[in-house]
Amino acid sequence: MAGNKTFTMIKPDAVENGHIGAILEQITASGFRIVAMKLTQMTKADAEEFYAVHNERPFFGELVEFMTRGPIVAAILEKENAVEDFRTLIGATNPEEAAEGTIRKKYATSIGENAVHGSDSDENAQIEGAFHFAGREMF
Ligand code: ADP
Ligand code: MG
Repeated sequence: MAGNKTFTMIKPDAVENGHIGAILEQITASGFRIVAMKLTQMTKADAEEFYAVHNERPFFGELVEFMTRGPIVAAILEKENAVEDFRTLIGATNPEEAAEGTIRKKYATSIGENAVHGSDSDENAQIEGAFHFAGREMF
């Protein structure tokens, strides 16, 4: 059975470019409820742990550098079929391949600086949400 929560980050590029409000508006207008949310900045150790699954990839160093260069908005979102529906809403990793109207199509600048994160499974949604939030920060 598909779970009802996912985890997202508005990445440093989208925060720098002033897109927090528009992205949150599109997320909530698409039927997601905000369960937890904060403006925060990841340390190098945080980003290396969060993206550990990619640590052998050639872009890993660049990814850690990017994700730590400024604040992010971290959030847990709730909706039926949350993980899959949110991946559809954000679009493909590479904005050039993302569908029209998706968040990455509208706000990403490159395959690396692609505006938003979305969990890829119910299990990872749970792990990633717990990485950023304590129980008392979830509503
Ligand atoms: P997604 O975020 O769509 O799940 P991945 O899990 O494959 O994508 O990659 C994690 C993140 O690493 C991407 O969102 C992007 O910021 C970065 N990334 C992925 N592929 C590349 C690449 N070829 N070059 C640079 N950065 C990349
Ligand atoms: Mg991924």
